[in-house]
Amino acid sequence: MSRLDKIIKGESFPRPINKKIPDFAFSQANMTGNLYTPTIDQMWIDQKCEKPKWPDNKPYAVCITHDVDVISLQSKKENFRRMKHIFKARSQQKTKQNLIIAFESLENIANSMFSSEDPYHRIEDWLKVEQEVGARSTFFFAPEHVLKSHFTDCWYKYDDKLRFEGEKITVAELMRELNRRGWEIGLHPSWHSYNSVDEMKYQKEQIEKVLDCEIVSVRQHYLHFDNRITPLIQEAAGFKYDSTLGFNDNIGFRRGTSYAYPLYNIEDNKILPVWELPLIIQDGAMFNHRKGMRLDKVKALEYIQMIAEKVKEVGGILTLLWHPHLIVDEISWNTFQEGLKMLQKDDPWFASVREIGDWWGNNVKIDLVSFIENLEK
Ligand SMILES: [Zn+2]
Repeated sequence: MSRLDKIIKGESFPRPINKKIPDFAFSQANMTGNLYTPTIDQMWIDQKCEKPKWPDNKPYAVCITHDVDVISLQSKKENFRRMKHIFKARSQQKTKQNLIIAFESLENIANSMFSSEDPYHRIEDWLKVEQEVGARSTFFFAPEHVLKSHFTDCWYKYDDKLRFEGEKITVAELMRELNRRGWEIGLHPSWHSYNSVDEMKYQKEQIEKVLDCEIVSVRQHYLHFDNRITPLIQEAAGFKYDSTLGFNDNIGFRRGTSYAYPLYNIEDNKILPVWELPLIIQDGAMFNHRKGMRLDKVKALEYIQMIAEKVKEVGGILTLLWHPHLIVDEISWNTFQEGLKMLQKDDPWFASVREIGDWWGNNVKIDLVSFIENLEK
């Protein structure tokens, strides 16, 4: 297998080792010094002399996404549930980590006595900023229940309450309302879903029950993804689009492309009917104080512009991830708002994972895996 083949098919990328997330900053593209360049897309254009066509001849697509990991910061119910969960899963991480989380939860409960408004309850602000640039994003929600638990699991339930546009509603009502307004709801499946069809199906059904319709998009929590297994699990559960393959601690083109490409069954050498919309830039990688790039707003906007330039050159998809609860981080929130205004100057097509995936499958029809295979024959 050649180098490009390995990159696009996910061969020789790290898989989970000893239940731990491997170095997610690793990429074959990185080894060639091209992490911030969509090399494979450039090669496509060199060979075929055509870029993907987007609606209204827009120059490229911007796909905004949100992983809903947490609903409330200060809810007593949710913090007690979190402590209970951490206690149950206490053997999975160090005692010190467990204690930190327990104290954090107690502190949150104490703080709730002094403020009536939960700082995380600002979903409407995301909608407003997106609407201003004509965007409707994808919100990936976690399941309420899992078959096998892990300490990283989210702890909210669908009947938990939050404040939305001045009213108290449940998480289930929020999901339905977002869906009704044309935002997309996808699944953010738990750690142990990466290799279990039962787990993945069970979690997908929970969202579908709330919405009373099928969902098609998925992003693994913590980007916990095994190239050899997870694509098969997602396919078996009936997903059409995944947007996991990016980085937790870096930004860039993990598989050398900004285009949608089919996931691949490495064991059987088969293309799967699941399209990957690669994750290119996430808030956590840029703004976490303890790891990753640790950028300020000015530097982050420079990076976003640089990456957007590259995506624009090849007419690809710029997939962004901002976690809704991190709206409390001013730098991150301001970068999101200014970043969208900056991108708007290019007049790209802002759309959800499903909209872009459907468009790609129906109108663009570029399949980079077959392209690379034929190139190397
Ligand atoms: Zn997550």
